[in-house]
Amino acid sequence: MARVYNFSAGPSVLPESVLKRAAEEMMDYQGSGQSVMEMSHRSKTYDAIIKECEALLREVMNIPDNYKVLFLQGGASSQFAMIPLNLMNKSGKADFILTGQWATKAYKEAARYGEAKVIASSKDKTFSYIPEWDEADFTPDADYFHICMNNTIYGTKFTKLPETGDVPLVADISSCVLSEPIDVSRFGLLYAGAQKNMAPAGLTVVIVREDLIGNAQEITPTMFNYQIHADNDSMFNTPPCYTIYVCKLVLEWLKNEIGGLENMKAINEKKAAILYDFLDSSKLFKGTVEKKDRSLMNVPFVTGNEELDAKFVKEATAAGFVNLKGHRSVGGMRASIYNAMPVEGVEKLVAFMKAFEEANA
Ligand SMILES: *Cc1c(COP(=O)(O)O)cnc(C)c1O
Repeated sequence: MARVYNFSAGPSVLPESVLKRAAEEMMDYQGSGQSVMEMSHRSKTYDAIIKECEALLREVMNIPDNYKVLFLQGGASSQFAMIPLNLMNKSGKADFILTGQWATKAYKEAARYGEAKVIASSKDKTFSYIPEWDEADFTPDADYFHICMNNTIYGTKFTKLPETGDVPLVADISSCVLSEPIDVSRFGLLYAGAQKNMAPAGLTVVIVREDLIGNAQEITPTMFNYQIHADNDSMFNTPPCYTIYVCKLVLEWLKNEIGGLENMKAINEKKAAILYDFLDSSKLFKGTVEKKDRSLMNVPFVTGNEELDAKFVKEATAAGFVNLKGHRSVGGMRASIYNAMPVEGVEKLVAFMKAFEEANA
């Protein structure tokens, strides 16, 4: 069977060359006589894989030396608890901007461990924009300030960052990591579930400034303490070995085939422009998000008629454009056009949408 164009929000499409490489190395990884899946995580061969993965991530993202890179499990969702447990340790306060379901979950979980304050929210319009904020409302002695940089469900992204001064800025970058360059030094902590833009599911990457490690709340479970993982080079327990290996392959693809994050950004902007330009000119389809806040990665759209939306999703699936159904909280459609979605996939989707529009005028 031919491969489909997969617009899933996550787990999502991986670069074809990465899948091929993983397949080639499946039975015998570089003369070891084993699959990476079967190897001891304490073996020399595996140690080289995880070290190379970290080195590549540091290189591609230009991560400063005073940041630790942690390879964890539990998904981005575990970070909603791990962050307050580790960071809410001075005033016990943190600030939040609510731009969707994930940002709200991070806020609610933090409120279990300390004083969580909402600085701004776009809930009034189904999170279809990034709200304005007033610096006068920021908590001056907050232990951190949390945002969700790219809102996977609603299709918005932050284009400027809150100026939080000495308060560490923490960002969920699950659905925009590696999609464009990011100035890591602006943040105290960045985290991402890998299944959107880095690897298959099972790996959570945390990039944390060293001075924020080591003062976890007393009640913090051992496995939720950043220090434990930092001190053990992400090997306190068995890491998600195979996923880290695929992450390494994805980073090699990004570095060697794409040529780094500047190039990745240009490609992503090109793909997004093809889709948004069509949505802006279409008489049938329209985007659901304020133009200035549009995501590069997740593009929700509707026809305004639920039956027609369902018909579109059905026909698109049959034509090989899969996972276009929108999140249940927004309805309509959503095309996630992560790094591994080729430009050609977006061009073909738009051609299909045009034909659908003509047939249903
Ligand atoms: C997918 C996603 C999550 C949840 O990730 P899990 O790894 O499933 O816990 C959190 N935040 C954002 C922005 C996401 O896109």
